[in-house]
Amino acid sequence: MSLSEFETISQYFNSAKLGFSRSGVSVGIGDDGAVIQPPKGSSLSMSMDLLVEGVHFPQNADSSFIARRALAVNLSDLSAMAARPLCFTLGLSLPSLDEDWLEGFSEGLSRMARRFDCPLVGGDLTQSLADAPIVIAIQVHGYHLDNQPVLRSTALNGDGIFVTGTLGDGAIGLCSLGLQSHLENSIALDLAALNEDHRRYLNQAYYEPEPRIEFALAAAELMTACIDISDGLAGDLGHILKSSGVGGDVNSTLIPYSPAAMAHVSLEGRLQAALYGGDDYELCFTAPADVEEQLYRIAAGQNVGLQKIGEITSGSALRLLDENGIEILPLNQAYQHFAPRGSSK
Ligand code: ADP
Ligand code: MG
Repeated sequence: MSLSEFETISQYFNSAKLGFSRSGVSVGIGDDGAVIQPPKGSSLSMSMDLLVEGVHFPQNADSSFIARRALAVNLSDLSAMAARPLCFTLGLSLPSLDEDWLEGFSEGLSRMARRFDCPLVGGDLTQSLADAPIVIAIQVHGYHLDNQPVLRSTALNGDGIFVTGTLGDGAIGLCSLGLQSHLENSIALDLAALNEDHRRYLNQAYYEPEPRIEFALAAAELMTACIDISDGLAGDLGHILKSSGVGGDVNSTLIPYSPAAMAHVSLEGRLQAALYGGDDYELCFTAPADVEEQLYRIAAGQNVGLQKIGEITSGSALRLLDENGIEILPLNQAYQHFAPRGSSK
């Protein structure tokens, strides 16, 4: 028997697991609008991501995984602003109200929501045509109380460029799921050679990226600019450079990779995945040299990987350098293979 819209909302979304109470939320699901009261003196950051089946997540993917990923990528945007999550709203367009799918989806969402104390406070649900893709829109709300928001536009010449975690795992993770990636030829992952631990790690990197909320909050006052890496280091660091009106030199040998990536993907493939793969949801940020030690201390205290990979320059381009500081290729240039300048490709 199929559910009505209201049964679906009350059973799967307005549950104690997902619509739980939290300070700052006075009215959640059930009225015409949610009412939120962020702490006095705080400012709000809002961010929305739209995920379309077949575009942002594979068709027939497990709905619990989709849900975790959908909320995680939104929370990652809040981390890039150094905002503390407060609550979120959800727009869902589904071809049918499938109870198994809804059960998994609500379970996956609630797992992330609880971890980050970010309840669901409202949304909308609509039935689409039978063969239309699933569409998921999530808007997260976060607040800044003890720190200012960290923008993309405020990097300064001479700052260090840092990244959290390891890069490339999102794109390699997509390949580990046996799914198409625009980089699959460069990544060239041999699925048969993957051991179980690495497979699990890579699958999780794709489906459950870790929003770096606590790190961002602790380090916010030390950062000059920040972005989360959703489209690859080249593009996302490029956004910081462009909006700050500066250049950046990245030492390619300092880009951090996971043991799974090191074990199964060539250096060239890893570099491609880190620069152009996206879906890593790690932070890329800038900070002056005199706070570097403090940053490493915060990262170590939270067990978060942190690596300085380069420096902001007075130029305007993002350059990728080899271990001798020689430019490999300008990063705003499309390329197929890395090769020293002037050599044949
Ligand atoms: P209205 O007709 O006033 O727009 P709805 O009937 O669409 O309200 O929704 C009723 C309540 O259920 C509202 O509080 C709304 O925020 C909530 N709601 C609807 N869809 C969702 C959803 N997908 N997730 C969470 N809450 C939802
Ligand atoms: Mg209404």
